[in-house]
Amino acid sequence: MESSASPSPSLSLSLSLSLCSARFCIPSMNRFIAKSLAANLGVRRVQSRCLCGAAGAGAPGSIRQPDHGQEQQCSGTSVAQYDVAIVGGGMVGMALACSLASMPLTKNLNIAIIDSNPALVNGIRINKEDPPDPRVSTITPATISMFRDIGAWQYLQQYRHAYFDKMQVWDYTGLGYTRYHARDVDKDSLGCVVENKVLQSSLLLCVQNADIQKKIFPSRLVSMSLNPGSRSKRMDGISSEISRGDLTKLQLSDGTCLFAKLVVGADGSKSQVRELAGFKTTGWNYSQNAVICTVEHASENQCAWQRFLPAGPIALLPIGDNFSNIVWTMNPKEALDRKSMTEADFVKTVNHALDHGFGPPPTSSLLENGNIFSWFRAGVATSGNGGFEIPPKVLKVASERMVFPLSLRHAKDYVSKHVALIGDAAHTVHPLAGQGVNLGFGDAFALSRVIGEAIAVGMDIGEVSLLKKYEAERKPANIAMMAILDGFQKAYSVDFGPLNILRAAGFHAANYISPLRRSIISYASGEQRLPLFT
Ligand SMILES: Cc1cc2nc3c(=O)[nH]c(=O)nc-3n(C[C@H](O)[C@H](O)[C@H](O)COP(=O)(O)OP(=O)(O)OC[C@H]3O[C@@H](n4cnc5c(N)ncnc54)[C@H](O)[C@@H]3O)c2cc1C
Repeated sequence: MESSASPSPSLSLSLSLSLCSARFCIPSMNRFIAKSLAANLGVRRVQSRCLCGAAGAGAPGSIRQPDHGQEQQCSGTSVAQYDVAIVGGGMVGMALACSLASMPLTKNLNIAIIDSNPALVNGIRINKEDPPDPRVSTITPATISMFRDIGAWQYLQQYRHAYFDKMQVWDYTGLGYTRYHARDVDKDSLGCVVENKVLQSSLLLCVQNADIQKKIFPSRLVSMSLNPGSRSKRMDGISSEISRGDLTKLQLSDGTCLFAKLVVGADGSKSQVRELAGFKTTGWNYSQNAVICTVEHASENQCAWQRFLPAGPIALLPIGDNFSNIVWTMNPKEALDRKSMTEADFVKTVNHALDHGFGPPPTSSLLENGNIFSWFRAGVATSGNGGFEIPPKVLKVASERMVFPLSLRHAKDYVSKHVALIGDAAHTVHPLAGQGVNLGFGDAFALSRVIGEAIAVGMDIGEVSLLKKYEAERKPANIAMMAILDGFQKAYSVDFGPLNILRAAGFHAANYISPLRRSIISYASGEQRLPLFT
């Protein structure tokens, strides 16, 4: 893995401050910038019309594409040009579209969204009476504030979502635990658990209702020509010549072709944009899978619980009403067993894992003077944060059980000329701290802001020197979070006496040293300041 970043001034910039500059500060730029913006957009529209006209049937600009070694005309009568082609309409790709639509500097851009998921065209069906979907994300206060700024929160609020203001983390050795409370950082909540389909639907509604030029292509990217005039590369290895100015050409699985000034790969951990653009990655597969499902309790759960077990952590996250979501990491064989066992057996193993299974719960006697951790309280400003609690019992399983393999992957570069990667296409992290999509949203907002800055000064939005600004902002933050999560994963992969004591010491430090606890909460909330360095 690449070396982790040392804290830098750019790292400590909070996302909410960044958003402030995107949404509120940029609109107040002087008239000169506003004029150059208008001029820039005017030129772009003329170019766009010319291209479509020239690309009409039989016109010299018509694009021909290879198909299984044969030249084949792109379907449709013209080849349209877009400012931004977002490949992948998942949560992160839709967040980028929504963010571009929300800013005065970028809302006149012509945007293509490419994804074969039919829900993007037909709408995402959410029945409020159904139990929650097992695919959920814990979103941080920083993400919530971004959703508010881009106008997506108003849609999300109409659906089920669950804030939580308490979190308890402990491990199976019974040596330590940590409890966090939102009031430690003067906040109302530590985060919110939302079904992925609710996040995506809110972003889709936001884009649909925005007054922007956009088109959704229900198809998949299959080929991309990065240097017009040179060879285009296809997923099937066939190459062809094209020539079309300083644009990137995309061919889709249904035969459609389009051109874009900037192609954004938001197409997930197996990104084709990343592969076609030749970005190298580093990473590995964890020999762990995550089992996820929705469970039901007798009453509402309002705390996020996480217990580290010998094979990996189990998390119990509130998702509204009497439901919680389980994310349980374990080795692949165990995962398959737990997916296929009877519901009654599964409920039994979950309650065992969240209570006294694998080891005793931490007891207060361990925390009193005279025990191995009493030195924590001697000489440092400490504060307790409530006693250890046993999570609420799970009564039944309320959804299918799903299994996901886990991996860490990071693109060495996020940008090249006309191409940028965001979200899981750029970085895939272990889900143990629920940070993956939050990092992706951070990318989407940072990229949209950089695009806005380019438009303000009349720059080409595909210019690599500009895109590097986005990379410089996001890469250190993403690498730092990846390193922390990978460190956690590794620290809990070993059951070894001295290491267990060290981990327990970490729990105690986090629980009893107030500044450290505050700084951990702030970092996990998306404020991007590394614990201990602020
Ligand atoms: C078990 C588990 C739990 C998690 N929990 C959390 C959590 O609590 N909090 C959190 O922040 N993160 C969490 N994550 C991580 C989070 O789910 C991912 O970071 C997030 O889904 C990434 O979103 P994305 O839009 O970048 O990619 P994806 O969700 O993978 O979306 C990619 C999109 O691209 C489309 N696509 C793919 N290829 C093409 C192509 N060739 N052409 C066109 N379209 C294409 C796909 O159809 C898809 O819609 C979790 C992950 C797992 C596995």
